Amino acid sequence: MKTVCNYPIGVPGAPWTASEKRQWLCSRRKHLDREYDLDVTRYFPKEEGFHAVSYGVLTAPIFCAEKRGMVNRDYLLFAIVPDTFYPPGGSINGSSVVRHFPPIRHPTNIERQESINKPTILITGGVHGYEISGIKGAQQFLSSGLAKIYSKHYNIVIVPCVSPWGYEMNERWTAKAIDPNRSFGVKTPDNPTPIRTDESTALLNFLDTLGVTTDDGVLHQPTWLCHLDLHETTNSDVTEFRPAKAARDGSVEYDDHIPDGFYLFGHSHQDDARISNGGEASNNDHLAFYNTILKRVEKVTHIAESESDGTLCGYAATSHGLLLLPCAELGICAGGAVPQAPYAVTTEVYPDSDRTTEEICVKAQVESICAALDFLLTVGKADNSIS
Ligand SMILES: [Zn+2]
Repeated sequence: MKTVCNYPIGVPGAPWTASEKRQWLCSRRKHLDREYDLDVTRYFPKEEGFHAVSYGVLTAPIFCAEKRGMVNRDYLLFAIVPDTFYPPGGSINGSSVVRHFPPIRHPTNIERQESINKPTILITGGVHGYEISGIKGAQQFLSSGLAKIYSKHYNIVIVPCVSPWGYEMNERWTAKAIDPNRSFGVKTPDNPTPIRTDESTALLNFLDTLGVTTDDGVLHQPTWLCHLDLHETTNSDVTEFRPAKAARDGSVEYDDHIPDGFYLFGHSHQDDARISNGGEASNNDHLAFYNTILKRVEKVTHIAESESDGTLCGYAATSHGLLLLPCAELGICAGGAVPQAPYAVTTEVYPDSDRTTEEICVKAQVESICAALDFLLTVGKADNSIS
């Protein structure tokens, strides 16, 4: 269903000017219950085998009541990586590696070699900063000990909150009114300069430098197998974010359907760069991958039904709870961040449903990760003889 756009900023039917984007930014306010430093940055791992790495600082304007104007706020961007990634006390991009738990344990050469041989998994949350269960799901996968268990088979990299300004503002976009989950496009001859945000640029630069450094100083970059990006679809999508997007782009209407339940979106692989780059998984394999996740999550929370016209969120659904989209072309994080990974998927929980709770949504995110990693073990994408 389409609703006519009636957003308070801009002229209906005309894209926003720079001054209207500024007006939008100045109308944003920090969410009272959200403190990035308290809720996310302090949440460094205590699990043996992992450490936190700062990969940059995001500087973004926020409204300051005392100064009655906008001031810049710095957010520390960080990821959780295996101890084998980077030498202890080393640095990336000129910033110091942050290690936040004693004791610092230097990986042995055997551990480093094992790490080079293991496939690597990327888990991201908070690409849309307002979607809290993705951040909590990534944190819980680590704090519950599951990340440590699966690290026997995989190198696991967790970026719990890609967009900290969006987290504190309870906002979908970046401060520059760009959707960060459309800013990871893969460079192609047709699109040599895909849209970037400060958030995507920092993450992509970080991922480029990631790997195991051996004693002779050689960097072995990860063999990416899978990327899971944890998201939500919320009622605020139709009360705020889709109307704002329609207004920003000069559209007169927007889709107002919110799927009630969990769903996934993955790649429509036919026009996906990874296949021509030698991606080895077949389309059937991918459908089995997505459906395994859906089946497991269905035990935790209900799966979204399509609308009567067969769509989910305005897109034609491929099957129950599944959308396949040209993710690399759209600039979606799961698909663009590590395009060499043959498996990439975006989870979508619906926390505003009468049939779920925030706790269940977090559990569904964790279950998605476990289902994906179990599937990849079952089909022999990682060594399951290690116990
Ligand atoms: Zn999202």
